[in-house]
Amino acid sequence: MAVFSRCLSARASAALNPATAFAYIIRDLSASSSSSSSTFNSGSDLKSSSVLVQNPLHLNGGPEGRNVQWVFLGCPGVGKGTYASRLSNLLGLPHIATGDLVRDELTSSGPLASQLKEIVNQGKLVSDEIIINLLSKRLEAGEAKGESGFILDGFPRTIRQAEILEEVTDIDLVINLKLREEALLAKCLGRRICSECGGNYNVASIDIKAENGSPGMYMAPLLPPPQCSSKLITRADDTEEVVKERLRIYNEMTQPVEEFYRCRGKLLEFDLPGGIPESWPKLLRALNLEDHEDKRSAAA
Ligand SMILES: [Zn+2]
Repeated sequence: MAVFSRCLSARASAALNPATAFAYIIRDLSASSSSSSSTFNSGSDLKSSSVLVQNPLHLNGGPEGRNVQWVFLGCPGVGKGTYASRLSNLLGLPHIATGDLVRDELTSSGPLASQLKEIVNQGKLVSDEIIINLLSKRLEAGEAKGESGFILDGFPRTIRQAEILEEVTDIDLVINLKLREEALLAKCLGRRICSECGGNYNVASIDIKAENGSPGMYMAPLLPPPQCSSKLITRADDTEEVVKERLRIYNEMTQPVEEFYRCRGKLLEFDLPGGIPESWPKLLRALNLEDHEDKRSAAA
């Protein structure tokens, strides 16, 4: 419950901006990084807490005076990065993917680079502390440039990260992208990379027929240009067994995070009905953003 009481005190001192508040928490975390007992993860803890309020979903922007602060959840291969990046372009918000932050830090000569290299080389998971540190630096840099609002992609991944995020800022909405398992599996197995230019393609042509009341689904392949087509390779870990295991681990880790936001009335479940042409307009409708795109295309 330690995190929880800190949460209350952080909320009481409301006006901290996310970047500054993250800095406090990093200090806090490093002081107590060996104890994992401060995280709560049982459903009964969630339900018994008086902090939980069923907020209505803020679908049409953030509170007055700032842009929306949204989170994208979704398992590997669902296309979360694509939709987050499209929305960030539409709304003029930064798309902050923690995977990118880790990659950028790895190629930099920043203070965390050597520590990160070791972790990644050993195939270990990057700790909450490091991720939060990177995110905090990114938010500070954005703030200095006058950024407001964000779309987070790949964070929070654990309940502990979700708690910390809740401590430092108000997330307006968490969009949980879902895709039927058979389509997801086909999509992951269809991934190809050009060994020469590094381009990402997908050779899976997904065409699930409607049956027993469940609708059909079509997802077009993303075929390579002719100069790449003879140089395609499959990632060694894109086998059915590995993909299924990746999904299982993802679900196990993320279900508590989904529950965390569901309890707070912030979770929007979105079942992708197909590829981008089918899904994008429906996602905009679900987010009350259809007008937004209409206005933008009219202005163009
Ligand atoms: Zn190529």
